[in-house]
Amino acid sequence: MDSLILENYRKAGTILASVLAEMAPKIEVGASLLEVAEAAEEAIRARGGEPAFPCNISLDRAAAHYTPGPEDPSIFGENMVKLDIGVHVDGYIADAAVTVDLSGHPEMVEASREALDAAIELVRPGTNTSDLGAAIERAITGYGFRPVYNLTGHGLERYQAHAEPSIPNRAMEKGVVLKAGDVFAIEPFATNGQGRISEAPITEIFGFSGRRPVRNPAARALLKEVSELYKTLPFARRWLKGERVDFALNQLLRSGAIHRYPVLWEGEGMLVSQAEHTVIVTEDGCEVTTRPRDQA
Ligand code: MN
Ligand code: MN
Repeated sequence: MDSLILENYRKAGTILASVLAEMAPKIEVGASLLEVAEAAEEAIRARGGEPAFPCNISLDRAAAHYTPGPEDPSIFGENMVKLDIGVHVDGYIADAAVTVDLSGHPEMVEASREALDAAIELVRPGTNTSDLGAAIERAITGYGFRPVYNLTGHGLERYQAHAEPSIPNRAMEKGVVLKAGDVFAIEPFATNGQGRISEAPITEIFGFSGRRPVRNPAARALLKEVSELYKTLPFARRWLKGERVDFALNQLLRSGAIHRYPVLWEGEGMLVSQAEHTVIVTEDGCEVTTRPRDQA
């Protein structure tokens, strides 16, 4: 890998590790979700990175894709909280998550964390992604939970947060063989539910799909704003400026210029934990870019 590219991946990872470590302790009963999300995004910028996607704070049955709305009044209760953060430096992305459990289910948190460690142990050139999935599934079912089968880890490319290869959370018939220089996020989820998430009727995160003819001036202005500022990376409704944002968003959704990332959740009353790191495959193993430096 080009040394400048490697440096950017490492810088993004280092920033992310420090932001996660700083923000996780702020998650406590009574604290504001919006304040934590904004503090995380601000801390990324203060350290010289940019958010690669909105700070995701998903509670309990929600596995992914919740971020607070513009004036979100929510506060943390006795929730299982997934804090999932992305940082990019010149488009090179780090993606990592921790679960902060305020709900009294430490073993579910342990299950996803141990699954992540087990998968990272196996990463080297020649490993099949199916073997990573099998290790994840084994670790999580060993705790008596299920992995979320229809969520996966994913490759990371410049300004692309969801590239190939996909990293399954279960054994697969056929995977992909890893090679040196591959960059991807591994993200096991453990649940006491069915292990199958579906889309919730809640969307706070969107992404640019492509230029489409749009007549309405507010929609045109918004399309220009998001395509220039966020390129192909996801953005939050909360981040948008200007007039009639919700109307303009709807126009753009209808035209196909943007798409939604709805909240993904398990069955009612169920809980989900998550652990995630970003790795770069090296000649004889991997470098975990999102681990704090002194533990790398
Ligand atoms: Mn993530
Ligand atoms: Mn991810």
